[in-house]
Amino acid sequence: MSLYPLFVDLKGRAALVIGGGPVAERKIAGLLRAGAQVSVVAETLTDALQELVTQQALQWQSSPFQPAMLDAVWLTIAATDDPALNAAVAAAGESRQRWVNVVDAPRQSSVQIPSVIHRAPLQIAISTHGAAPVLARRLREHIESLLPESIGPLVALAQTFRSRIRQRFPQLGPRRQFYDWLHDGPVGQALANRQPAEATQLLETALAAADPAKPAAGRVTLVGAGPGDPGLLTLAALRALNEADIILHDALVSPAVLDLARRDATLIAVGKRGGGIHTPQSEIHRQLLEHARAGRHVVRLKGGDPFIFGRGGEEIEYLREHHIPYQVVPGITAALACAAYAGISLTHRQHARSIQLVTAHTRDAVPSLDWLSLVQPEQTLAIYMGVAALDAVQQTLLRHGMAPTTPFALIENGSRPDQRTLAGELAQLSELAQAHGISAPALLIIGEVAAMAHRQSWFGEHIDARPAGRLSAETPAQRGSPA
Ligand code: SAH
Repeated sequence: MSLYPLFVDLKGRAALVIGGGPVAERKIAGLLRAGAQVSVVAETLTDALQELVTQQALQWQSSPFQPAMLDAVWLTIAATDDPALNAAVAAAGESRQRWVNVVDAPRQSSVQIPSVIHRAPLQIAISTHGAAPVLARRLREHIESLLPESIGPLVALAQTFRSRIRQRFPQLGPRRQFYDWLHDGPVGQALANRQPAEATQLLETALAAADPAKPAAGRVTLVGAGPGDPGLLTLAALRALNEADIILHDALVSPAVLDLARRDATLIAVGKRGGGIHTPQSEIHRQLLEHARAGRHVVRLKGGDPFIFGRGGEEIEYLREHHIPYQVVPGITAALACAAYAGISLTHRQHARSIQLVTAHTRDAVPSLDWLSLVQPEQTLAIYMGVAALDAVQQTLLRHGMAPTTPFALIENGSRPDQRTLAGELAQLSELAQAHGISAPALLIIGEVAAMAHRQSWFGEHIDARPAGRLSAETPAQRGSPA
């Protein structure tokens, strides 16, 4: 047998709570939120409840509980730590045919209060039939994380336009299609972007259009997939992956992240990797446009952050020119992730006051960098690069006066199961990288902070290749976890 779910309108209706402790306090807050007229029966009250009584938001009856108290109320909640009293309240409800909830005692309760997700006016209630309230709470957190904040305003908008939508689409089929469009299309997008006036305008226009059932509904979400560990995705990124029809992804996006995409989404690889087949940017633009114009939700998934050496800027510029709505979800960029996973504090206050993110993807790109600014003291360099450029980076830094003993950490496959961190000194950089067969993707950190990887690395393999003299200066005890 299952419970019968109800949403109860308590506005202006009397409700009774037995007990004046912290549990009662939470229940009373919920009842007041629903507009109930609440009385509390208790010898003593918490400070917060006392305050509500003073404000006349709550009525206090300090006389002992009597079954007849239930006669004048719609709903009663027993929230005391006295099992006999709770049982007496339940029995009174039973004989008087009044709904009673006994907190944490589903068998004594004729109503159970569900775990609720609030996105006013939308509410989602979860029940485990009282079997496992803790699981219900876990589930609630999970659903919370998947539901965008904008779902509430969307429901509110639908509420306002409900009769007009019904008039415009008397038949259920087209009406359903319109609601899908409302949810998935530009109106939902505008609300998610916190542009409510625009959302209303789009809805008005669609209702006035000759063929409103098929407005172009496509859109693009530019999503940062982070460095590889799926745990480093944002909730917004996860949501986008759950909603995508088409995912255009770079080669750099890890398989573990792609695994999280909606099962029936189409995955299209458009990236290049280490000189492999290269999809021209114009072709990526063309595909974005084609799929969005076909009404699909396109996720453009990029490694790290889309705006850090990721050409995300060019892509949204193109979308804007072609009137395709878009959204951008930032991601954790390689420099931040690699530093964290190698135990390197990029701006440790004893060693660095600034950080430069630099790209040196090809040997040809190296000469055009502002080398004088790169060799300044008390700064950390995070260099995004192709492994082939290492030699040029090393030579040029040395030529511009950086000390050959400057520490570096080269992090390969940062945050992925096969992460390796190679630590050494600038003078040996390219030689060591070659000797250890470091390959792309790899991120280079140069500066005093890079030496921290030695003691503080905690993830993946750590190769310490600093000259022996420097190593022996440290006792084993100075090194942190042996990992
Ligand atoms: N938009 C990306 C960077 C793209 S450029 C971001 O924000 O991270 C590609 C370069 O990023 C690679 O050549 C490498 O230097 C670096 N990179 C990306 N992911 C990496 C990872 N998991 N480990 C090490 N380096 C990485």
